[in-house]
Order: sequence, then C-alpha cells, then structure tokens
Amino acid sequence: MTVPVFRFAPSPNGHLHLGHAYSALLNRQMASETGGRLLLRMEDIDRERCTPELERSMLEDLYWIGFEWEQPVRRQSEHFAVYRQALDRLIGMDLVYPAFLSRGGIKHQIEKLGGNQSSWPRDPDGALLYPPTDRQLSTRERERRIGEGEPFSWRLNMDRVLEQIGEALFWSETAPEKHIVEARPRDWGDVIIARKDMPTSYHLSVVIDDALQGITHVVRGKDLFHATSVHRLLQRIFDIEPPVYHHHALILDYDGEKLSKSRKDTSLRSLRQEGVTRQEIHALVGL
Ligand code: GLU
Repeated sequence: MTVPVFRFAPSPNGHLHLGHAYSALLNRQMASETGGRLLLRMEDIDRERCTPELERSMLEDLYWIGFEWEQPVRRQSEHFAVYRQALDRLIGMDLVYPAFLSRGGIKHQIEKLGGNQSSWPRDPDGALLYPPTDRQLSTRERERRIGEGEPFSWRLNMDRVLEQIGEALFWSETAPEKHIVEARPRDWGDVIIARKDMPTSYHLSVVIDDALQGITHVVRGKDLFHATSVHRLLQRIFDIEPPVYHHHALILDYDGEKLSKSRKDTSLRSLRQEGVTRQEIHALVGL
C-alpha cells in the first residue's frame, strides 16, 4: 500500500494567522490518522514579497503550534530551473503565448473590442478575462515586440488546450465524504502560466511540486477550490497522476470576512505575544 503524503504550502509574504494554523493542523491530523507523511513547502517564487525573515517567523510559528514536518523544507525559489523546463514544454507544445497587455491595457483593449468592464466575463478570482488579441499575433510580430524588450507574461491558450484534451476533467474531493467534482478550467480563460518577472506562476509551480514531492492528498482552503480546475488541466497536459483534494472551510473573522495576512490581530505571532497557549490555538481552530 502506498503511504499518503500531505503538505502544507504557505507563502512567506506575511505572518501566519489562525486560518493557516487550521490548515496546517488539519493536514497534520489527516496525516496522523492515515499513517501518512507530512511535508512543508515554502511557496516563495515572489522574490519581492517573500523574505527570509518572514520565512523564519513562519517556521517558528509552525513549530510553536505543533505542526511536525519532515526535513528538508522545499523552497520554490531554489527550483526555478525546474519550472522553466515545464514552461518550455508548454511553449514547445504551442499551448502558451506571450501576453503583452498590462492591467490597464486589458481594460483599454476590452473597450476597443466594444466591450465594457461590467459586462466582460471575469475569472473565479474576479479578474477580467484576457482579451483574445495577443493570441492572434503573428510569430513575427511577437518576435519583434520581444526583441524590443517589451515585457510579457506567458498565458495558456485555453481554447487550444481544451480542443486538444477535451472538456471532461474531474477531481476527487475526500472530505467530509468522497465525491467527484467536475473541473471548469474554461472559467479562467487564458490564465497566466508564467509571470512577467519569472518563468513560473503559482499554478505552474504548485502542480510541478505536488507531482515531484509525490503528494497524494492536497488539503487546503476553499479559497483555492476554483484554482484546482487549472491544476487538473496542467496535470492532464503533463500526464501527471492527480492527488485527491480536500478544500476545507475557511476561518472567518467576526465580520464574516476571510482572515488576511495583513491583519495583525489574528496573527499567530500576536496571539503568542498576548500569552495564548498552543492548546488554546488548537481549541480556537477546533482541532
Ligand atoms: N501558497 C498558497 C497560499 O499560501 C497555497 C498553495 C496550496 O496549498 O496549494 O495561499
């Protein structure tokens, strides 16, 4: 029988809060109930927002709440070459294209196409779908603009991908009871695969790393539920066996809002400084 492998994968761009504690401890609980392994991954591709100090503070907080992870910690910033290879495969398959429009450029282009921001379709995160303009550029035009140093990101040609692999794509949710979810990658339009300043994005790195680390169970917040559609698509393209998923409920603040790293009051740091104990943290998140 294969041993289940779980992971907690925070981004060290702020301090951990109670919501992270819940996610980390739920992973720990599920790993211990199934005799599984528990890994920690730092999703630190954003070299501006992620810092060694924030990573150190995350490790301290995780240690304090009793999250017990295997060494070594995988740091995404140490593996850009691996993501670059994956990106090159997508480029080789002609499934991505250079996208030159800035956020303002997207709005402008939508108006030029006779649309407007309120009626133009948006992705599950609320961002305007990328207009089809750059997808239609000739190779010559692309090369010219790249040659002139115009910044660009790489976006997936969603229509082409779905034409090639078909629309039928599913994943398994494990809890509270097992069920199958139909992936809806089309809702994301031409999603970003590599950002302007790096050869990757959250979606690409997470799929490559979950595969390389042999993750069998992805347990993470409901806020990433829709992202899983993109992940299933990339797994199909790269012929990766998908893990099973559990998108758990989020811990909300008193106003019913999602907790955020920018709020100080629910950060594990400040709770610890106020004298809250590890046991109280476990009780607060119900684990
Ligand atoms: N790094 C992501 C975050 O902190 C989570 C990634 C994941 O669990 O798939 O929101």
